[in-house]
Amino acid sequence: MSFAFFCKNGILYFVCRKSILAKMIVMFSKLENREEIRMKKEDCLFCKIANGEIPSTTIYENNDFRVIFDIAPASKGHALIIPKQHYNDIFDMDAETGGKLFSLATAVARALKKELNCEGMNIVQNNGLIAGQTVFHFHLHLIPRYTGDTVNIGWVPGEANQVELAELAKAVRKAI
Ligand code: AMP
Ligand code: ZN
Repeated sequence: MSFAFFCKNGILYFVCRKSILAKMIVMFSKLENREEIRMKKEDCLFCKIANGEIPSTTIYENNDFRVIFDIAPASKGHALIIPKQHYNDIFDMDAETGGKLFSLATAVARALKKELNCEGMNIVQNNGLIAGQTVFHFHLHLIPRYTGDTVNIGWVPGEANQVELAELAKAVRKAI
C-alpha cells in the first residue's frame, strides 16, 4: 500500500511513500500559486482600482466587487462592476462569482435607472481582444440609454441554418 492513516492517542497520523509526499507538495504549491494569481495581479489596472490603490468614482463596494463610473463613458451613468479578485475574462470566472456578480448587477441597474431616468440599458461584457476587451481584468459594463445618445452596439443579423443550429445545440449542451 502507498499510504495509510492510523490513530494513536487520539491523533490521526498519515504515512505515505516519499514519492507520493513529493507529488502532494508540488500539487499544493501549484494550488497556492494559482490562488495568489487569482487574488491580485501586479500591474493590473483594475486590480488596483478594485482594491482601492488607484482612486475611482466608486458608486458601491462590498467584499467581492467595486462598482465605479467609467472614466470615458459611452453615455451618462456608464458604470462598471469589477471583481476584487483577478479574473481575465468570463472563461476564467467561477460560476459562484458569476452568480454574485449578476445579482449585484440587477440592483445596480435598477438604482441607475431610478436616479438617471434612462429609458433603457445595455449590459455589455467584452472577452478577448477580438471582442473589444481593452482591460484584461473582467468587468461588466452597464450603459444607460437615452433617446438621441451616441452609443453604438450592434451587428448585422445573419441567417440561421436549423439543422446546423440543432447539431450545435446538442454539442454545446454536452459541454455544459
Ligand atoms: P473594455 O473595452 O470592455 O475592456 O472596457 C474597458 C473600460 O474601462 C473602458 O470603457 C474604459 O473607458 C474604462 N476605463 C479604463 N481605465 C479606467 C479608469 N481608470 N477608471 C474608470 N474606467 C476606466
Ligand atoms: Zn486584475
